[in-house]
Amino acid sequence: MEKLSSLVNHFNSLWPESEIADWDRSGLMIGDLSSEVHTVVLSVDVTIDVLSHAKDLGANLILSHHPMFLRGTHTLREDTAKGSEAAFAIKNDLAVFSAHTNADFVPNGVSQTLAKALGLGSLGFLDAETKQGVIGTLEKPTSLLDFARAAAKVLPSVAQGLRVAGDPNRTIAKVGLVAGAGDSYLNLAHEANLDLFITSDLRHHPSQDFVEQTKLTNGPALMDIAHWAAEWLWLEVAQQQLSDKFESVSFIVSDLSTDPWNFVVMQ
Ligand SMILES: [Zn+2]
Ligand SMILES: [Zn+2]
Repeated sequence: MEKLSSLVNHFNSLWPESEIADWDRSGLMIGDLSSEVHTVVLSVDVTIDVLSHAKDLGANLILSHHPMFLRGTHTLREDTAKGSEAAFAIKNDLAVFSAHTNADFVPNGVSQTLAKALGLGSLGFLDAETKQGVIGTLEKPTSLLDFARAAAKVLPSVAQGLRVAGDPNRTIAKVGLVAGAGDSYLNLAHEANLDLFITSDLRHHPSQDFVEQTKLTNGPALMDIAHWAAEWLWLEVAQQQLSDKFESVSFIVSDLSTDPWNFVVMQ
């Protein structure tokens, strides 16, 4: 058992509040700081299935990457998703804490974890000024197709698989990535002298503009991986960090997929 307050203090040292983006809403969302915690469930998102799974495990706290309330919520009516989730958490004594933008680019954070899982070394920042995004190199350069196949094995399985734009035979050595929705980093990625840029949630127009530009300048290939899968890997790193610190608390990574898509039809 540990007081929620001592867990929160440690969360804030791993994922500093000073790194939270202006628009973000990380931190403690539901809970009493003086309550006792013995079981914590780690999840990318807080959904009703995750809450219910946490209750079944007898958990007292959900540690999520995505904040439960990111945009304005003006009602907790239980016929709304947010309202029913909040009510479920409170009725079942489940606290909720989120570490979002403050966990993205810190050492052993979400993007670094993804980079290491994909075999990248000599890690640096994609944007040296803001210290955001990750750049790394493969010790053994490989073809784009083989790299994509290896990535598909490392990432948790999702309906969409992963999507790639580029010559499958192209040699990949230097890779940039932003775990989560990273299309605002496409311009930086283009200028970073990469062989490949990886992110999630890429839309038609930004992707097409990027691909067209790369034809003129021999810019990087592009890979779109599922947002949930990209960020889920970090939960195991956080679990390890927290288990090392709090021996009397059990930290359980939820293996429930919170990817919104559950099947695809191939053409
Ligand atoms: Zn995300
Ligand atoms: Zn993220």
